[in-house]
Amino acid sequence: MDISQRIAEITGRIKQSAQASGRPENAVSLVAVSKVQPEERIQAALDAGQRVFGENRVQEAQNRWAARRANYRDLCLHLIGPLQTNKAEDAVDLFDVIETVDRPKLVQALAALARAGHKLPRLLVQVNTGEEPQKSGVIPGDLPALLDLCTREGLTIEGLMCIPPEHEEPALHFALLAKLAKRHRLGVLSMGMSGDFETAVRLGATHVRVGSALFGDRVAPA
Ligand SMILES: *Cc1c(COP(=O)(O)O)cnc(C)c1O
Repeated sequence: MDISQRIAEITGRIKQSAQASGRPENAVSLVAVSKVQPEERIQAALDAGQRVFGENRVQEAQNRWAARRANYRDLCLHLIGPLQTNKAEDAVDLFDVIETVDRPKLVQALAALARAGHKLPRLLVQVNTGEEPQKSGVIPGDLPALLDLCTREGLTIEGLMCIPPEHEEPALHFALLAKLAKRHRLGVLSMGMSGDFETAVRLGATHVRVGSALFGDRVAPA
């Protein structure tokens, strides 16, 4: 199957899952996760009309996308990997959405950039729903304090993102994320990847992040 067919197939499954759970079929946007994918696959996705892409590294995303922005003005780039404060300025200037706000130091760095005149991207908070020590994201118990800090610092948080633990039932984590978003009146929910995006859509995802099911297996970087 070529990439345009895969995009059509995945988009179809997203719409079906949305309709099956009583949601509008255009309620969910497909974030094509292009990290570590060869150029020709990215170009094929662009040629097929895909415009929303996710990258997990700032530097890799700059190399791939900074020059392309001139040709694709409707591009929408999501940062879906952890963000170090020393990369925050580059990230703010490149991405349209940062999905991985997860700690006070990063909130403060973003607020400082806004005060210095940078236009901030749309922001989501990453929640470590499985409370895994090695994983980034704020643990659910610390979410209220982090959201309060965002408010005090003048940052608008639009929603939440999570990556469930690998060997657990993802639906439990999606349901928890949806509950937290509802409690804090946040409208955007980024959840679901290649193996579980239909489940995520049924549980309220507004954004699914799909990489390998769309582009094929990631090619190891040289
Ligand atoms: C790589 C990645 C994805 C995509 O994973 P696939 O299983 O290839 O769809 C989604 N979200 C994040 C945060 C990722 O790092």
